[in-house]
Amino acid sequence: MEKMSDTNAATPVDGRPVVLRRGTVLTMDDNHTVLPDADVLVVDARIAAVGPSLQVPEGTQEIDASGGIIMPGMIDTHRHMWQTAMRGYGADWTLTQYFVWYYLEHGKAFRPEDIYAGNLLSAWEALEAGVTTTVDWSHGLQTVDHAEAAVDALQEVPGRFVLAYGNIQAGPWEWATDKAVHSFLERRRTGSGDLLGFQLAFDVTGDPAFPERAAFEAARELGLPVTTHAGVWGATNDDGIRLMHENGFMTPETVYVHAATLTTDSYQRIAATGGSISVSTESEQSAGQGYPPTWQVRRYDIPVSLSVDTSGWCSGDLFSAMRTTLGADRSREHLEAHAKGETVTHVHLRAEHVVDWATRGGARALGRDDLGRLEPGVKADLVLIKNDASPVSFPLLNPYGQVAFQAQRGDVHTVIVNGKVVKHEHRLVGVDLAAVRRTVDATVEHLKAQLGEEQWSKGMNPDTPSDEESLNNPYQYTEYKSDTTRGARGSVFDEPGSGR
Ligand SMILES: [Zn+2]
Repeated sequence: MEKMSDTNAATPVDGRPVVLRRGTVLTMDDNHTVLPDADVLVVDARIAAVGPSLQVPEGTQEIDASGGIIMPGMIDTHRHMWQTAMRGYGADWTLTQYFVWYYLEHGKAFRPEDIYAGNLLSAWEALEAGVTTTVDWSHGLQTVDHAEAAVDALQEVPGRFVLAYGNIQAGPWEWATDKAVHSFLERRRTGSGDLLGFQLAFDVTGDPAFPERAAFEAARELGLPVTTHAGVWGATNDDGIRLMHENGFMTPETVYVHAATLTTDSYQRIAATGGSISVSTESEQSAGQGYPPTWQVRRYDIPVSLSVDTSGWCSGDLFSAMRTTLGADRSREHLEAHAKGETVTHVHLRAEHVVDWATRGGARALGRDDLGRLEPGVKADLVLIKNDASPVSFPLLNPYGQVAFQAQRGDVHTVIVNGKVVKHEHRLVGVDLAAVRRTVDATVEHLKAQLGEEQWSKGMNPDTPSDEESLNNPYQYTEYKSDTTRGARGSVFDEPGSGR
């Protein structure tokens, strides 16, 4: 069925070749070749050709990419998709508050349909932002029914997903050895094709008894990679890495999320065993897992991918991840230099590097050599960034700089996954957003009812620190206090005329 969008360009029909014409192509091949004024031809599920003025098969549908950037679909290696139904709720949370809310107090309140709702919203959200592959770090799977719901949602959305099975309500040595979990994984893997992958997701506490051994053995038996929150301040540390290493469970497909508070010894063990680090800068800066480690791990040559962690507090697009990662890395370099009275004259981390991490970095982490680049033969997962109505879209001088610092999700014009156009002319194709909204609304209503009005409000508005200490500032010559020092949220707006 051929539908017309409101800009009157026909949405490409499934099954017919598509060519994107005259864009700036970031191939992200081994040489990071950039092709100005070039085309990308998609036939079936794969890239058929990349280059200028391509000859295309009869019946090929054309998308005008002029003035835009064609790049590989972005890959997020760690997103707790089930939490998306709580979008923005934890905007002012620390990691401690997150742990209390989800792990101790309210995570159990999520029913299978709530996991479904969060995943469904998150999956569309990812696609809309040009994230064509997302690892669903799904640690709210209290029962197999929850897991079924998680996968049901992912399979309803035309993106590429990896379900990283987890359960924060039980020890990994318990759920990962559960026969019902194994049969779920075997069953849902069968015939699911390459749009759906699986991992096991659990953390290693550093307990010398190493109870997580059973979970690692289960992963090995199932043939699934492990993804683990490693080097998280106050939660996981070098002991966990050492135990994994000494017991032979660090492999090239292992993904270490955050890896922010580790020492040289752990980074060397990760480097030696070939695993990769998933950096969630926006989350780390805000919640306190540790300083985003890119500025130091480059010394160990550890591969990096990017992730958003959770839309429960931060954004769900990799433009933000690229931008904050560049900012954190460069900021730290300047800060370290200034502390020594020195000046950084050349930055290490380039816009090109974070674009690599958002694309090929993710593909490497997932062991998918057929993703993350635009070359003939690889899977056709790609994004066109183009927004003719935006004054930010020109001049296009530095395409990597454009992607990392100028572009945002609203500039994502077209998204193709596995050869299928899933976003076109800035609109998702085939989504019933009203239905998604109803599903999410039902989850929010359920959780509100479970918590009660007071708990709900208290959860979203954590207390501000109680310490009243202020510096003796000789320039503090007015009565003005900023809203961050006034105490309760909203007080600035509650006292008319009491501003400056
Ligand atoms: Zn996480």
